[in-house]
Amino acid sequence: MKIVFSNQKGGVGKTTSCRELGISLSLQGKKVLLVDTDPQGNLSKSLAYNETGLYDALTDGMVIIEPISETLSLLSGDIRLSLLEKNLLGEIDAYQQLSELFELDCFQKFDFILIDTPPSLGILTLNALVASDALVIPVSCRMYSLQGTNDLMNTVSKVRKNLNPDLKLLGVLINAFDRVPVIMREIKEEIEKAFGEAVFSQVISKSVRVEEAIAGKKGILELSTRDRIKEEIQFLTMELISRSRL
Ligand code: ADP
Ligand code: MG
Repeated sequence: MKIVFSNQKGGVGKTTSCRELGISLSLQGKKVLLVDTDPQGNLSKSLAYNETGLYDALTDGMVIIEPISETLSLLSGDIRLSLLEKNLLGEIDAYQQLSELFELDCFQKFDFILIDTPPSLGILTLNALVASDALVIPVSCRMYSLQGTNDLMNTVSKVRKNLNPDLKLLGVLINAFDRVPVIMREIKEEIEKAFGEAVFSQVISKSVRVEEAIAGKKGILELSTRDRIKEEIQFLTMELISRSRL
């Protein structure tokens, strides 16, 4: 199962949700590969650092998948990926580079491939949408959070029509939720009104553990603290697994 995390808005939790759900699935014994298609390489830097990665795989066919744990691996992204936006422009198979890469033997052993994307709807994001079975849209619980999701859904329709008819919307994930302020609940309701059943019933709270986990190059579930956000990630993981079976 290949799942892309996308929203062209930056700072909504694409990298965080991709990372934490990937780690969570891997802790359950699933074989997980995280793929970083963002030239900013935040996902990669938060787990490891490698000089080679997705760019080399797409340009030289040199696929170096880095083991993070027994069940978690990373195909890292770095600033060189931004060159692909230019280099692939006008190529007839510009949008199928990643799906062709995933046909290689070394990708078949994974139960889940989770793909983080840049905050844009450019060639890198389109490659990820074309190469995936399902889409998760993280939205942050803030004003104007739905701005831009229409463009994303229009892009998804075009991808389905032309290149990947089977791409399904797995869910909309409300991130960085703070349950106390009324405005937060109003924003949550607005998101639920726009996306209906597609919204995951489990929301992820705003929590300082997100940054702590990144600083420690670990998952939130691997921190030694007891927190609400741990339970949220666990419930969300179950919801993700059950939706991915449908
Ligand atoms: P994106 O990948 O969509 O740009 P990130 O996942 O990098 O967004 O999140 C943006 C920033 O917000 C990061 O600094 C991240 O650590 C922080 N962040 C994300 N989710 C949460 C959360 N639930 N609680 C607190 N901080 C969060
Ligand atoms: Mg990101």
